[in-house]
Amino acid sequence: MYCSNCGLNINQEKIQKALKNDSKNASNIKYLAKSLISIKKFAVNEKLIEIKVTNKDAYKEEKVKLNASLKEEISLIKEKLNANDLEYFKKELSVKESRTLNTQDYFVCPRCGKLVRTNLDENDIKSLARAGHSEIHRGRNNISTGMCALMIGIILAVIGFMFFALSFKATNGGVLDTTCVEFYVFICLLVIGIALIVYAIINIIYGKNKTRSYELLLRNINNGAFHQ
Ligand SMILES: [Zn+2]
Repeated sequence: MYCSNCGLNINQEKIQKALKNDSKNASNIKYLAKSLISIKKFAVNEKLIEIKVTNKDAYKEEKVKLNASLKEEISLIKEKLNANDLEYFKKELSVKESRTLNTQDYFVCPRCGKLVRTNLDENDIKSLARAGHSEIHRGRNNISTGMCALMIGIILAVIGFMFFALSFKATNGGVLDTTCVEFYVFICLLVIGIALIVYAIINIIYGKNKTRSYELLLRNINNGAFHQ
């Protein structure tokens, strides 16, 4: 199942976990407040991603504006939390207490906190398609971050091996001297280089999988073959 708000692909196990969490916390005002705050934050982030793509010049200005209004909204939520206004949160999140584990029709998304539903209407599908585009965007960011890290990692490792070559001292009869500074530099560079390369590979694989699966999702939506 996909969250139509953030596009998160939620497997059965996560759904069960989210449902359990939800029913346990249906009257937990702190949980509801946290949920509501994460929805607001997520909405602002989404908007910023969109602005960054469509209108780069206004980005900084919009960011300040959106963050200011977010701050206001969060302080309102905190006020309501301090006033113990449970009804406010229930209304905002449309939470019903009568829900059980068998009602899989909706539950709170573990990532953005919005309600995930089975029956998506046209607007939900549109929103899911938008979220899918953002996810592809994120996946591509992962890939480019990975590529950068890979390059830097390889360069550091190569420089490291140069220092390794320098550790064979002529003064030591051309034998490896493991106590010299060059050798320690080699070890440091190698460790950082390998860490970067591992980080890069994880990012690239993650990004590639993400873009592939969301491209498929968008294709299905466009073909009308998508159902939740
Ligand atoms: Zn979500």
